Amino acid sequence: MGQARIRGSRDIRVAEAITKADRLKPPVIACNSCKIELTEIASLDASGLKGIEAAFGAHCVACDQDTWAVRGEIAAVQAFYVALEKAAGAKVQLGIAKPPAPT
Ligand SMILES: [Zn+2]
Repeated sequence: MGQARIRGSRDIRVAEAITKADRLKPPVIACNSCKIELTEIASLDASGLKGIEAAFGAHCVACDQDTWAVRGEIAAVQAFYVALEKAAGAKVQLGIAKPPAPT
């Protein structure tokens, strides 16, 4: 009791973003390089990214590539990939995420 007012701290926002991402997480992301189905998907913190609902990353051990999957507004998703490409200094391909069961 008395601990309820720590909301708003960065740690909590990150935890909430990841919890939300977990709910939206696709069961499988196809590797961009070898198309193998990756099921070890990490939920990423997208709380600081405007228009992004959730972001996921999966690492393919077969070809040592990271594949990303992002859910959100189209413009925001494109901006996310541009930022990734700048950070990586290379072309980043959109991951193919199978959508979760329709709601
Ligand atoms: Zn691969």
